[in-house]
Amino acid sequence: MSDVRVRFAPSPTGPLHMGGVRTALYNYLFARKHGGTFILRIEDTDQTRFVPGAEAYIEESLAWLGIAPDESASAGGDFGPYRQSERRERYRGFADALVIKGHAYIAFDSPEAIDAKRTANEQSGLPPWQYDHTTRGEMENSLSLSEEEVQTRMDRGDAYVIRFKIPADRDVKFTDLVRGEVTYPTKVLDDKVLFKSDGMPTYHLANVVDDHEMAISHVIRGEEWLPSAPLHVLLYEAFGWDRPTFAHLPLILKPSGPGKLSKRDGDKFGFPVFPLEWSDPKNGELSRGFREDGYLPSAFLNMLLMLGWNPGDERELFALEEMAACFGIDRVQKAGARFSPDKAKWFNEQYLRALTPEALAAAVAPWTQGRGLTPEQVLGACALMAERSTLLPDLLGAAYLFAPPATYDEKTVRKKWKEHSPGIVADLRARFAALGAFDETSVDAAFKGYMEEKELGFGQVGPALRLVLTGLGGGPSIPAIAAFLGREEVLARMDAGLQNLGA
Ligand code: GLU
Repeated sequence: MSDVRVRFAPSPTGPLHMGGVRTALYNYLFARKHGGTFILRIEDTDQTRFVPGAEAYIEESLAWLGIAPDESASAGGDFGPYRQSERRERYRGFADALVIKGHAYIAFDSPEAIDAKRTANEQSGLPPWQYDHTTRGEMENSLSLSEEEVQTRMDRGDAYVIRFKIPADRDVKFTDLVRGEVTYPTKVLDDKVLFKSDGMPTYHLANVVDDHEMAISHVIRGEEWLPSAPLHVLLYEAFGWDRPTFAHLPLILKPSGPGKLSKRDGDKFGFPVFPLEWSDPKNGELSRGFREDGYLPSAFLNMLLMLGWNPGDERELFALEEMAACFGIDRVQKAGARFSPDKAKWFNEQYLRALTPEALAAAVAPWTQGRGLTPEQVLGACALMAERSTLLPDLLGAAYLFAPPATYDEKTVRKKWKEHSPGIVADLRARFAALGAFDETSVDAAFKGYMEEKELGFGQVGPALRLVLTGLGGGPSIPAIAAFLGREEVLARMDAGLQNLGA
């Protein structure tokens, strides 16, 4: 094991957006590439946003995709616990240490007092108010109050938070593996709360403390956390710790127009944004998932890989092991990556077509439930339909494979069912009935032999036969369909066709 230790640190506040899955994937690949360790840490310190089932959803998503963590609450590891709620006792001491060193302070201001400041600024047209080096002196905190006063208030149980004391005028500089040199002037930063009055740390404190305690070497996370990075850099400094290397991944953008891809885009345009289906425990609202829509995990992963990274050449298809070998943060782009539902489908088609019928039959199992299909039917349908399917349920989507056509496509009847068609179907019926073996090759030979003998073109024979067998004007090759249906069914459908369409 190398010293590379990376973590995916989601908050269990709902289903995992595909952007989160991509963050997990890039972390996983980075760990594999460098022989390191991939950790899942659950950041559940915000009790108000906790959603039951969300943690299990995250684990299930990673397991479905084959990128399960090396260390986590369920996998174990030497750096646990891996849920922040189970580490809560540790954080207070770190916050206190910063107060003692003068890097943080106690603040008693009520949320109402802070709101009043904000409103006052708003009403007088001043820039938005924030708790910072310009305003902290006028607030009720351990910098403005006497030591005795602070002690008295604490002793009598007044609510307070611990805030970080951002240096007044400095540039915070760090190197980001994606964005290069990043500089933030501290004068624009506010004194963020590190420890809340409910006895819990905020994201910032818990995240930095845990990254340090879990010996995280690289922090690979979404761009939305870039504005938090200067505070984190200052926290590492204040603690006197080495900091991990940062890499902030580009946003995933809507299929068109500006902005981040949201659940609403998915609902509006009919595509999933979550890996798995999610039922909201609050209102039972269902959000669709890539898995339930019929995407293969390999295709979904490959699609995510390419949302923000490229190999530097034209290759687009990467199995998981190949991804790990090729992946590098140096080829992660800075600009937002646009999600394309069509491209997602394209990836699925590529992976679906590369699978054997046996593998497809296994993958399509969830869609066979209650349909009364035999294993042979499922396998046969997979072999027949792979080339024409985009999503897994498409493999079983051709109803004529499992039941005789209930109707005949009107346009095809009009265009292809001609005067000579009944005679042709009747002739073929006799030949099929007389065949020795009835399989794709023998049916094909009988069919071609007939056309040659009668000097008929495919256009005169094929569409009519397809119409009686399937009720449609297009589909997989006719001999393949016939072999799938079997002689008995083929003859029965030909009889029914002759009857229904008029002999
Ligand atoms: N808990 C944060 C999230 O939900 C973690 C951000 C980070 O990786 O630092 O994404």
